[in-house]
Amino acid sequence: MKKVILGNLSFNVELTSNDRRKFSVEVTGRRSILVSAPPEARWIDVRERILKKEKWILRRESALQDLPLLIPQRKVETGEGFYLLGHQYRIRVKSGVNDVLLRGNEILITCDSESMAKDVLADWLIDYTNDYLEDVFINCLQKFQLKLDCSVTPRLMIKKMKRRWGSCSPNNLITLNTELIAAHPKCIEYVIYHELCHTIHLDHSKDFYNALERMIPNYEEQKYKLDTTTQLTEL
Ligand SMILES: [Zn+2]
Repeated sequence: MKKVILGNLSFNVELTSNDRRKFSVEVTGRRSILVSAPPEARWIDVRERILKKEKWILRRESALQDLPLLIPQRKVETGEGFYLLGHQYRIRVKSGVNDVLLRGNEILITCDSESMAKDVLADWLIDYTNDYLEDVFINCLQKFQLKLDCSVTPRLMIKKMKRRWGSCSPNNLITLNTELIAAHPKCIEYVIYHELCHTIHLDHSKDFYNALERMIPNYEEQKYKLDTTTQLTEL
């Protein structure tokens, strides 16, 4: 990964090539820049393009500092924060029969002993996540079939992934990352529509983005929000 220093901050630069003979510079997350460049572009050209946009990039970076990161909390104790569907809850642990309740801004975990809280929450979260993602997936699929007039019926798998929010295999198996449950509902829909569009366009071609835009006109905004407010944990 290439790096570039702007202000006094070091940014990772990801490069992709395009055949439109144009440069585009995008801030994709904290300290991350994505540059799309013509295939023959040299690093020195890319760097120059980035430096030209230094002020703009630094402005975006400082705006990102104000956003909360939705890293799923690993510490399950009273007072800790916990993100669910883009909303921050406070954890409260109480003794009682194993159960989890969402009440206002609070997530109430009842269990025999405090050391059980994490397991109780984890069990509850598996069911909650599977139910939620399955429902939204079915809903999105129906809209997708109707709007794009197609009859694909992909299978769905929900599991923890380290590096991706979702994937779609050539035999139409869509996998969604369980950690999506921390993200805002609109961002979750964006991921689902992105993968659904791969059932008709395997690559990220113009046709792919056209289809995605029909399903979710502000998809770029949702992608940006997902990239900048959530982070995959490598656990
Ligand atoms: Zn894709």
